[in-house]
Amino acid sequence: MQTAIATVCLSGTLDEKLTAIAGARFKGVEIFENDLLSFNGSPRDVRAMVADLGLETVTFQPFRDFEGMPEPKRARVFARAERKFDVMAELGCDLLMVCSNVSPDALGGIDRAAVDFHELGERAAKRGMRVAFEALAWGKHINDYRDSWEVVRRAAHPNVGLVLDSFHVLARGTDLSTIRSVPRDRIFLVQMADAPKLEMDYLSWSRHYRCFPGQGDLPVDAFMDALQATGFDGLLSLEIFNDRFRAGSARSVAIDGQRALVQMLDQLRRRNGVAVPGLPELPPRATCKGIEFVEFAIDEASAPSFEKLLGGLGFAKAGRHRSKAVTRWRQGDANIVVNCESEGFAHSFQLVHGPSVCAMALRVDDAKATVERAINLLDSPFEQAVGPGELNIPAVRGLGGSLVHFIDERGGLSRLWDVDFEKVEAPAGSEAGIVAFDHVSQSMQYEEVLTWLLFYTSLFEMRRTPTQAVVDPGGVVQSQALESVGGELRLILNSSQSRQTQSARFLTEKFGSGVQHIAFASRDIFATVERLRANGVAILKIPENYYDDLEARTELTDAEIERLRRNDILYDRDGAHEFYQFYTNVLEGGFFFEIVERRGYTGYGAANAPIRLAAQSRSFVHPEFE
Ligand code: MG
Ligand code: MG
Repeated sequence: MQTAIATVCLSGTLDEKLTAIAGARFKGVEIFENDLLSFNGSPRDVRAMVADLGLETVTFQPFRDFEGMPEPKRARVFARAERKFDVMAELGCDLLMVCSNVSPDALGGIDRAAVDFHELGERAAKRGMRVAFEALAWGKHINDYRDSWEVVRRAAHPNVGLVLDSFHVLARGTDLSTIRSVPRDRIFLVQMADAPKLEMDYLSWSRHYRCFPGQGDLPVDAFMDALQATGFDGLLSLEIFNDRFRAGSARSVAIDGQRALVQMLDQLRRRNGVAVPGLPELPPRATCKGIEFVEFAIDEASAPSFEKLLGGLGFAKAGRHRSKAVTRWRQGDANIVVNCESEGFAHSFQLVHGPSVCAMALRVDDAKATVERAINLLDSPFEQAVGPGELNIPAVRGLGGSLVHFIDERGGLSRLWDVDFEKVEAPAGSEAGIVAFDHVSQSMQYEEVLTWLLFYTSLFEMRRTPTQAVVDPGGVVQSQALESVGGELRLILNSSQSRQTQSARFLTEKFGSGVQHIAFASRDIFATVERLRANGVAILKIPENYYDDLEARTELTDAEIERLRRNDILYDRDGAHEFYQFYTNVLEGGFFFEIVERRGYTGYGAANAPIRLAAQSRSFVHPEFE
């Protein structure tokens, strides 16, 4: 299988796009006509540039409004095709992609279109070229791949083949079984795109919302299964029109494209047990078994107040690193690492972002295999010098340049606390009922969300829950949850197009994306909140009106509501499943902690989020922990 990407996917000028595409290890590129037209150089210059980058132009596209035209327009479209062949000869490309006619002048008729394609095939053959036909979902007469296939079949010309574009096929919900009966050598090009489920016209949906396979909701896997049944091993190319990609970095979007393809083909191979030609063998997605620790990079000046807060939350110092200014704080199964080093990764992270989360360590079965998979997915591995006898814990770069470490038992990495740390005896009775991490919430640029969604879901067995739009006093925040199968790892990805939301202001304050809040699970939220208050931890004040509303919309007794009100605890339920949550005040820089108790409930209290965001926006400018 030869993989490729269309220049239309990326931002920038043609040379920037090609450089990004080569950098992401692609070998093939589809040149989108507009990228060529707007380029300041001849097709020959482009050919040289493509060759210098080790690339090959696999298709020139699109050729529009061709089939079924009445004379004299018909003669003109053939003349236009000849000029495209001239350009392709200069470009060094032999495949012209023709999409179905949308012109009101088109006459329709499968046989008429077949005759046109036969003649186009003859003309292409004289030049040693080929043409491939795509049914646009909004084509005037041909908008179903079964019809474009019938045209190609009746054209009966070796230089005329079919394009299958997953978006056009899946958006209309077309039955996929016909794909299985197309001879593989008649499929000249497969274009891959996913998309979120949206109710809108096909054209707008396609031009603005396509995304890479695995980032959307279309049944891309079923499409690939049908394609694999044909034995197809030809040209598979990404063709994505997406406003976020056009606003993003070409380099990063190209890498996402390669990652999406590797991930999709790897899943295909695992699902059907059939080798995929050209795909590297990579280890399976890792099953995350929990968060081993979250690490904060803190400067010396901020450390005392932060450690006081940790103590207030019921954490106790449990270890001191043998060679670094690093301590371990522990409560139940939750470990917080406080890194006050004056050199190395955490220090530089802290200089750029201020006191913040610089790393997260995840428990996996096999850390080495996880890194190997990450490298195959074009993630960036990270290494830093370690002291003699200390463990070298593998890591890759995650959100905002932070690190994601992998810890396993098999490689002995779970001995970390004994090997790298000196034990510190915790005072008895310091705990506040926190038993584990519940979820970690990360804020990022709106353009980055699909990148990090793919980063996590390609590396780990995780599922997405539907995106929630949460109202913040400063705008709307899009909130996307990712969860491992058993809920051992729960991540929330937040982003916003408004600059005034809490999520957006966090990015400004922190000079980049990162962890904005960490939620801990409590075994008894009422005991925990009382303990925290007694310890002097400032709890986010929830307005009285919220509790009056609870009285109106829940079956809770007055006494229960009074208990929630007194403790500033938010409440939600889903059927018989109940959820309790409260927050610390927002710290300088916009970070905060949350404490939750789940009684069978699996959500995140989305109904309460606007209340919380409003309460925080009142307290945001006055960090109150002291
Ligand atoms: Mg297409
Ligand atoms: Mg939360």
